Amino acid sequence: MTLIVGVRYLIVSGGFAWATRRKHPGLYMGLDPQVRREVIWSLASAAIYGIPAGVVAWGWQNRGWTRVYDDIHAWPLWYWPVSVFLYLLLHDAWFYWTHRWMHRPKPFKLAHALHHASRPPTAWAAMAFHPIEALTGAVVIPLLVFLIPIHVGGLALVLTIMTVMGVTNHMGWEIFPRFMWRGALGGWLITASHHQRHHELYGCNYGLYFRHWDRLCGTDKGIGDFTREHARAARRAAAASGGDGAVGVAIAGGRDAGRPA
Ligand SMILES: [Zn+2]
Ligand SMILES: [Zn+2]
Repeated sequence: MTLIVGVRYLIVSGGFAWATRRKHPGLYMGLDPQVRREVIWSLASAAIYGIPAGVVAWGWQNRGWTRVYDDIHAWPLWYWPVSVFLYLLLHDAWFYWTHRWMHRPKPFKLAHALHHASRPPTAWAAMAFHPIEALTGAVVIPLLVFLIPIHVGGLALVLTIMTVMGVTNHMGWEIFPRFMWRGALGGWLITASHHQRHHELYGCNYGLYFRHWDRLCGTDKGIGDFTREHARAARRAAAASGGDGAVGVAIAGGRDAGRPA
């Protein structure tokens, strides 16, 4: 299971890092030592995530543990999306409160400063956690499967959303359509623009998938803005590719990224 989590991380983070190089060349330029550190800590986290997941998966297959079902008709069909939503809601609540706790001075220094050492984070930072933080994340889904029935396909969807959001929230640009981070729906969902502000200001925007806890507790400070980083990245990329038209590219990049939302 550790191997699966590790390989899944390398494929998904690698894929989005590659997309970043194409979309915003220069964004990760000069960050090689940081990226190396992000990969090492993420692989260590993969090892930690793999242990409870492996034990529970073994128990599910060999001992009939958990409330994961594989017969789609074991529960009414309407329950399938409801269970997925429930898992996301509960995971989000757990993340919000443990994350907020980890921003208290002592736990921060001990367990969470490592994640914030990525400045700015990249697509490789998705699982760059101190082992204590990794442990708090690793137990959630393996505990939920004992409590809340879910179809094996629904569980796969939850894990996919978890992986994709973990990576895309850190990659330094928005891959999702505007309605997901602006407007009526965007006001309740968390994507890169929201989590970027957490990495910028620290004491706010603690959520994982949804913004209701942040909004309810007064810790939502709106969404961040990638304009400056993207302009800087365009300048760096232009300079690296020979300098011809560097200023023009930088200005165009900045103007494009800064278009009013
Ligand atoms: Zn944090
Ligand atoms: Zn983060």
